[in-house]
Amino acid sequence: MMNIIYVSKFNQKGENTMNKKEYQEYEEKVGRFFEEEGIQNLSGGCITCPDCGFNFLQEGISDLPIECGCGNTKEMLDAPSFSWKPCDCCNSHLGGDRYHATGYNPSTDEIQEYEVCPDCLYYAEYGQLDDTTMMDMED
Ligand SMILES: [Zn+2]
Ligand SMILES: [Zn+2]
Repeated sequence: MMNIIYVSKFNQKGENTMNKKEYQEYEEKVGRFFEEEGIQNLSGGCITCPDCGFNFLQEGISDLPIECGCGNTKEMLDAPSFSWKPCDCCNSHLGGDRYHATGYNPSTDEIQEYEVCPDCLYYAEYGQLDDTTMMDMED
């Protein structure tokens, strides 16, 4: 039987349930992820197709709405999709939207690709979770 899925930080009434301790744990998880992966940033959007490895940003084609071998376009892959796969960053096992994201690794000079939850993308961008979560957070 499948349970109804709620975003990790909300309970069944849609109330915010992430408390300060959980937030601290979350921050530590994300910090560890950045450290272990050696990346400087995490930004939304993909570069290669996760199925066939086609590079959408190879020179000369970035402006064209091209398809890779499996019929995906960059626009399709940049849009969130529902998945049960744990978030690569915070390891959330709750089903939810997953976004393709990339991070730059300065020691290898390479871009690494991930699938992450909306929380992690937001956190990577703004250094905190969304305002509602932050304001409603209880001790
Ligand atoms: Zn493909
Ligand atoms: Zn996450």
